Amino acid sequence: MTKSSAASRILTTDWLIRRAGESYYRRGLDYFQQGKVAEFQDLGDKAEAVVHGTEGYEVYLTLVPDDLEHNCDCPLGMDEEFCKHCVAVALAWIETRKGGSDGERTKANNRAGSTQITNADLQRALEAESKEELVNRIVAWAEDDKQLRENLMQMAARRKGPGVALALARKSLERAIRVRRFLEYREMRNYAASVETAAAMLEDLLKDGQAVGVMELCEMSLRLLAAAIEQVDDSDGYVGGLMEQFGDLHLRACIAAKPDPAVLAAMLFHAEMKSGLNEWHGCIERYAEVLGAEGMVAYRKLAEAAWAKVPVKTQVGHDYDSTHYRITAIMEHLARRSNNVEDLVAVLERDLSRPDQYLRIAEIYRNAGDRDKALAWAERGSAITPGPHGSALRLFVAEEYQHRERHADALRLVWIEFRESPSLISYQRLEQFARAAEDWEEWRGQALAYVRRMIAGDQKKPEKSSLVFSHTWLSGRWGHTLLVEILLYENNIEMAWQEAHHGGCNENLWLRLAKAREQQHPEDAMNVYLRIGNEAVSRATGNYDDAVELLERAASAARFAEKSNHFETELDGLLKKFRLKRNFLKCVEKRRQFLYLSAKSE
Ligand SMILES: [Zn+2]
Repeated sequence: MTKSSAASRILTTDWLIRRAGESYYRRGLDYFQQGKVAEFQDLGDKAEAVVHGTEGYEVYLTLVPDDLEHNCDCPLGMDEEFCKHCVAVALAWIETRKGGSDGERTKANNRAGSTQITNADLQRALEAESKEELVNRIVAWAEDDKQLRENLMQMAARRKGPGVALALARKSLERAIRVRRFLEYREMRNYAASVETAAAMLEDLLKDGQAVGVMELCEMSLRLLAAAIEQVDDSDGYVGGLMEQFGDLHLRACIAAKPDPAVLAAMLFHAEMKSGLNEWHGCIERYAEVLGAEGMVAYRKLAEAAWAKVPVKTQVGHDYDSTHYRITAIMEHLARRSNNVEDLVAVLERDLSRPDQYLRIAEIYRNAGDRDKALAWAERGSAITPGPHGSALRLFVAEEYQHRERHADALRLVWIEFRESPSLISYQRLEQFARAAEDWEEWRGQALAYVRRMIAGDQKKPEKSSLVFSHTWLSGRWGHTLLVEILLYENNIEMAWQEAHHGGCNENLWLRLAKAREQQHPEDAMNVYLRIGNEAVSRATGNYDDAVELLERAASAARFAEKSNHFETELDGLLKKFRLKRNFLKCVEKRRQFLYLSAKSE
């Protein structure tokens, strides 16, 4: 289907009324007639505008083959409703396209490339003006346009020489990066854009041979950004992106400036020690080449002096200290560069206040091929870390035992792990270790017996679990869901089905059971889909696609079971029960042919 035929079919009031529903349509029409649509732009197969209702809302519409994709930042629009604002903008669009009769309009479009102004048109228009007129106009425009003014100032400053240009860049960067009040995430795109405009000047300055000045300004910008991030909602990661840009530019400027290695080493070391957001973390890797041998020696000297002051921590206990953390990271980087395992372990050994240090040391030794030291460290860590926090260490030790064919010792640990956190994963792990020991039947029996005891309630539930539900059909008691999951994993479908009926299980497992039973027992499958479909409808708001899809699966299982009449009675019941859920009714209507199967076959 061509775009213009989609447009002529969709951009009509009839289509709009059907799409938005009578009441939204009427309210949208009011808005449109009251002139609340501003800044309307027809962009071919897209349109955008601001609608001034209670607040100003931005609306974007896009023509797609069978629909109008719509996007409005009002509360309803956020729920993907075709809101009154969307209606108002669509009406403005229809009006714009009317400019003449539809037929003439299409012809004119084809002939003259439409009434749209393109970039090429802009270029032609500018070329037609005199230079003097252009200069006057641009200077006048810049009085109202911050971004344009900034660009012109940069041009002018560059002409006046590097001193002026650097001073302007400093001022612009400070102004752009400093935050005066808390910025919401919606405001961050503009914030990042103005920082980027200011930063663009640094690229020019670097080209003009001002590498030292650019380095300093990058360092300043990184400091200011680290401070600014405290006062913005940066969920979209703009600040992180800007920091990366300044970091990258700093390195390039550094390569061009060739600073004194000892001075650069000191700058990098102190920046990393003070960095609030790890923006200089691991800089030794990136700057190794610029530092050269001399710089590396200077850097290492600074690091070792600071390291000598770090207290040795041998007790488990968590007191976080950022200086300690940073100097440790620096020393780790240096040790890794020298490729000496014992150096690296010596760094990590200074802080044994966390169990994961034992694990890291064990992993370092294992990767270096020294498995005896690896095991010894993991065992030490495991011994002082019982309970859930010791899980990773326990598994490490278990793997090392298995590697040495100490199967009984390995299984003892894996069994503790299964009891600590019973799940399909820990069950599968037990299976893997027990099979290696050729003893799975025995362990399987023990594991299933444990789950059944759990169900019977004489096992205490682990404190971490949030999976403890009341005993209902859809959730199942905690252990029951696990039992059904294990039986399904072992392809024991009949037994899984029995257990699900007996003690319940979660929704996901019910759906898997239904799917597994569709062929042999379609009526069972139909009942499961109907019950879960019912839950899904009552839970959903606005979008019923998933719920109705479940009902479609129920319908097809019903046909297979020759129970279509029964299904349709149930479906009619649902429509009655949820008659206030307008979108649900609409969705069922739209999918009628997949739901009312007996009527269709008559
Ligand atoms: Zn809206």
